[in-house]
Amino acid sequence: MIKLININKYYNSSEGKFHALTDINLTLPDQGMVYVTGKSGSGKSTLLNIIGGIDNYDSGQMLIENNICDENNNQSTQIIDTTNFTKKSYNAYRNSYIGFIFQEFNVIKGLTVYENICLSLELQKKSPRKYHQEILNIIEKVGLKGKEKRRINELSGGERQRVAIARALIKDPKIIIADEPTGNLDSKNRDIIMNILKDLSKEKLVLIVTHDRFLASRYGDREISIKDGKIINDQILHSENVNDIVYTNHEIKAISPKFSVPLRISLIGFKLNIFRFILIIILFSISLIFAGTVFNLYLTNTTKEYASFQKDYGNYAIDLNNNYNYLGINRQTGFFGFRLEDLKKNFSSSSNPGMTPFTSFHFSENINKNGENLNGTVKVYTETINNIIIYENKNEFENNFELLSPAITSSSSYKCYITDYLADCLLQYQYFGTDAFTKDDLLGYRLNITGIKTGPTIIGIIKTNYQSFIFNDNFYNDLKLQVAFQDNLAFYNALYMSNTDFLNLYSENNVNYYYDDIIFNLNNNLKEFNNVKITTINRYSNKLLEKDDKKYGHYPEKPLPGAVNQVAVSKGFVEQVIGLNIDDSQLENMLLNQPMQLAGSYEPTNFYICGTRHTPMELEFLISGIIDDYYIDDNGVKHDNVCIYTPEITVHTLYKGILSSIVDGGYLTIKISDDINVNSEVYRNLLNQGIKINNSSFIKLQLVDDFINDNLFLFAVLFFAFALFSILMIFNFVVINIKNSTRDIGIYMSLGMNGFKISCIYLFQVLIISTISVIIGLVGSTIFLKVMDANFSAQALIDFAILKDTFIGISGVILLGYLTPLIAIISPLLSLSKKKPVDVIKQS
Ligand code: ADP
Ligand code: MG
Repeated sequence: MIKLININKYYNSSEGKFHALTDINLTLPDQGMVYVTGKSGSGKSTLLNIIGGIDNYDSGQMLIENNICDENNNQSTQIIDTTNFTKKSYNAYRNSYIGFIFQEFNVIKGLTVYENICLSLELQKKSPRKYHQEILNIIEKVGLKGKEKRRINELSGGERQRVAIARALIKDPKIIIADEPTGNLDSKNRDIIMNILKDLSKEKLVLIVTHDRFLASRYGDREISIKDGKIINDQILHSENVNDIVYTNHEIKAISPKFSVPLRISLIGFKLNIFRFILIIILFSISLIFAGTVFNLYLTNTTKEYASFQKDYGNYAIDLNNNYNYLGINRQTGFFGFRLEDLKKNFSSSSNPGMTPFTSFHFSENINKNGENLNGTVKVYTETINNIIIYENKNEFENNFELLSPAITSSSSYKCYITDYLADCLLQYQYFGTDAFTKDDLLGYRLNITGIKTGPTIIGIIKTNYQSFIFNDNFYNDLKLQVAFQDNLAFYNALYMSNTDFLNLYSENNVNYYYDDIIFNLNNNLKEFNNVKITTINRYSNKLLEKDDKKYGHYPEKPLPGAVNQVAVSKGFVEQVIGLNIDDSQLENMLLNQPMQLAGSYEPTNFYICGTRHTPMELEFLISGIIDDYYIDDNGVKHDNVCIYTPEITVHTLYKGILSSIVDGGYLTIKISDDINVNSEVYRNLLNQGIKINNSSFIKLQLVDDFINDNLFLFAVLFFAFALFSILMIFNFVVINIKNSTRDIGIYMSLGMNGFKISCIYLFQVLIISTISVIIGLVGSTIFLKVMDANFSAQALIDFAILKDTFIGISGVILLGYLTPLIAIISPLLSLSKKKPVDVIKQS
């Protein structure tokens, strides 16, 4: 029994407070068909909603006198006061006590007849499988047999209303509440529905609101008339059908459905709005791909990656690309690494490691043979012949190399081949004066080499592809070309001599200096320098004096009579040796005739400084390779520290070393420290000083660094743009989705589903969006990073990964991917959960 005592209900409308129900006193039996009649707007629905527990009242008392009979047939009456009902108790009341039937056939369109009925069961935590037969019985009872699998939109209005009735019935409620259930139906369907309800009223209370008094008189057992919110008449029409008390086992208790129910509903929503979902997922995924890229780019620690690479592969691997094949020779390491390893092998019979810097010279672009500027900027290049490549067998040699023209025969004791590259350099520089005009003219000329009385005679010129680098329009922009060219320089810039000729030349001239690194021992003050290039006296006295180059100012070298080994060094170098600031005019007198010991060779040799040059501070240096510093002798014994280098290459010493010791502004070769942190720091500081580093691993680091610096902002902007757009889309989607399904939400509420479980429907949808987008975002950004990294590797001719996923980057994407949509739906869900069921139902 339901007892209403002095119930009052007010509405707050725009015109102020509206008194919708006034002092309603009413007792409703447990059985029979009770009609509430009255004109439209009289308050019928308001009353029904209060009784059904989808709306609350403002004053008075509604008591539920629940007549229970337990398993042992013990009858009792439970009196429940609804005055202080919470949301939860209302949910429980609706769920277990009330079956609703609305005017607008409130059934869920995405589901079939059978599924709609199941839903009602599942909300009561009952398994549809167990109740299968019962469902079929009820479907038959409402005359829908054979239409179980029909979707709601394939049914007529009358049929839909019967589904609503079936759904209410499967719950086996104590009270069935129907608000104008036949209002939208024709008379035939109306009679069918009314008969079904009449049938039901034999077991339960059926409370029907209608404005049609004819219906009440025809079917009703009791009619309550309302006018302006007050009961004006309450009469029994058929007292025999009205039973005050019926004992049943209807307990009012909260039942919470399983999570699978909202999950299923959310999947149905997904299916119904599939295109919008896909669009959102695409947009959101793109933004997450950018997010992942931005995070990982930002978090990429190039120094650390480089250090770990070095740790894994050792110093050697850091050098230029390996396995570079040129002229049939498979190179294992970079430029200098190659020189050391392979030339050492070639000199296996000799105790000398064979690194012999011969001579350096300038060659220029845009300058004609007479040194006149042709047009544009004059570019001056400096070259040093670095290598002697030795062959054993002349025939074999000539078979392996293509010569420009047939080799000449010469009676000279030392003969050599040079490359077209070197030939062009010699011609440009007019090394042999103006007599040599074409490459072929060079044949027969003898090369002047430091410390060697009789240089080798050029007998042939080897064809190379050097022009494809130098005359390539992209050469000065294309790092890859430049690196490849640097690699090939080992071959271009070399003398090719027979083993016999070289050994003779070598022993007769006592050429002992080793590579470019020397230690000068001046006044027993041993100082170490990197990469002092030894130049010929001939060269300076002949050419540089004429040029009067102010920028590269110099002091004229004076060949010292009797001194075999003579060098010109920079002024800065001298200052470093002496440890003083030297006045330009004093320089010459101070230094000339001072013997120094070249300690970088195997057998220390005395050198005399015969002149100095200024070294411009702003010279740009290229690090062209990294040397390895061991040497394996004839007996297979490894000698460490063959090359002299400053053991702790810090930027400070490097910086000073560069400025003070490099004469020609050519190459600086550094030995990598064993301390990876020092190396990383050196690398970074060199870059900061604007020094170009010409080594694959460094190039790659530089490319990545540049890329990050140049593009991080762009990526961040793209990420924010897409993120903002997709957040708005998700927000819009959720709002629209909730709005579109207000009717459904109203149904779930009237069925007693609690607000949290309803929210779960939308939370699940958002979770699906997030999960798919996060997966695509992570995979996408990983691929993106990999592709970029591979691209840099290809440019730098080295294969080690710098751009990678980071833990924080991945976590960031996951966090973002799940948090963003959650934030987007929080406010629509909160506003939904605050609503009373009646508001939701009315809204729809
Ligand atoms: P009936 O079902 O008898 O047609 P209702 O119970 O729906 O009447 O409404 C009773 C009165 O209360 C009507 O005048 C209606 O305008 C008013 N009313 C109903 N709901 C609201 C509301 N949410 N806000 C303001 N006024 C309302
Ligand atoms: Mg109404």
